[in-house]
Amino acid sequence: MRYVSPWRAAGPVAGTMGEPGARGRFGPYGGRYAPESLVEACREVEEAFRAAWADPGFRGDLAELLALHAGRPTPLTPARRLSRELGVRLWLKREDLAHTGSHKINNVLGQALLAARMGRRRLIAETGAGQHGVAAATAAALLGLEATVFMGERDMERQGLNVFRMRLLGAEVVPVTTGSRTLKDATSEAMRHWVGATGDSHYCVGSVIGPDPYPWMVREFQRVIGDEARAQCAAELRTGVPDHVVACVGGGSNAAGTFAGFADTAARFVGVEAEGGAGAARGKLGVLHGCRSLFLQDDDGQIVEAHSIAAGLDYPGVGPEHAHLRDLGRARYVTVTDEEAAGAALRLARTEGIVPALESAHALAWVIRAAGDGDLPAGSTVLMTLSGRGDKDISTLKELL
Ligand SMILES: *Cc1c(COP(=O)(O)O)cnc(C)c1O
Repeated sequence: MRYVSPWRAAGPVAGTMGEPGARGRFGPYGGRYAPESLVEACREVEEAFRAAWADPGFRGDLAELLALHAGRPTPLTPARRLSRELGVRLWLKREDLAHTGSHKINNVLGQALLAARMGRRRLIAETGAGQHGVAAATAAALLGLEATVFMGERDMERQGLNVFRMRLLGAEVVPVTTGSRTLKDATSEAMRHWVGATGDSHYCVGSVIGPDPYPWMVREFQRVIGDEARAQCAAELRTGVPDHVVACVGGGSNAAGTFAGFADTAARFVGVEAEGGAGAARGKLGVLHGCRSLFLQDDDGQIVEAHSIAAGLDYPGVGPEHAHLRDLGRARYVTVTDEEAAGAALRLARTEGIVPALESAHALAWVIRAAGDGDLPAGSTVLMTLSGRGDKDISTLKELL
């Protein structure tokens, strides 16, 4: 059998990871599929974001918040013992060390600052496991905004601690009782609520999903991961650029932010999805939550519920830009099982003294597998974004020991 390289078009593809095309498109994906009142609200967000992003004052304020409040820059850590075992050179971009425990703070500080600049007094957010909700509540408290977080009733039962953390930070947590009572329904409910509150509230989307300009704007707020890593790699690696850039993909924000920093290089991008939430690897074209992208669907086009040991990967779709990068062959999307991810989490804990979030453990699980089967050639340099820390997953991990 002829060997077919999975790397169809490694290397930069002109025009990718910049601004989306007309009407917020990434190839055939993206767009702004929303009721008229939200289309207008999205237009206002886009206009405000464009102005803010071009304003050195806004950039400076955000950089200061990220440094003083979120702990940026995060380190780039060589995983020395694990690298020796795997035969590759693995570097970890440590978003687990950011305030509130993951990369989500980068995005919410950007959007909260934008909301304040737009004169909004309240953030609306959806949350699944509660990580984005906690980050949004944190940013709101810091900037003197109110926060209303929509959360599925079932997720509230499963994630009691995060519900408490949000309330502790002064946020209102609204239980969502429709549908499967999880993230998908919370997102729909948050958008519905925004329809009646666009005048005084900003909808703070948690990943590179939703109507234009969110996929683009959230990627730009997460770009700090990739930009920092690029500079750190330039200082640490002989070649200046890693051979592979790897990140886990739920909606795809930590991956998009990381990839963006290396878009003009020959680094090969790998997005790692959960087996039960593989929007990019196995989704079909559809429209959900305001954008056209790839979603898990049954034969009738109904959205299928995602399932993953990692709550942050429990989303039945993927951001539109990832769908486009997949079509172009610029990035490759692979899946790992719950068991592989759990095994990878334990292995990182015991070789490097880092307990990763189960989401991040998916990315590592692929690195371990690929180093074993030659997909990652011996001696390759690998930059992997460690999107979050494992504290929230302790009770799940406890069952595995
Ligand atoms: C939310 C979350 C993810 C998934 O979100 P993306 O938008 O795909 O980055 C991954 N890791 C952690 C730790 C998270 O909290």
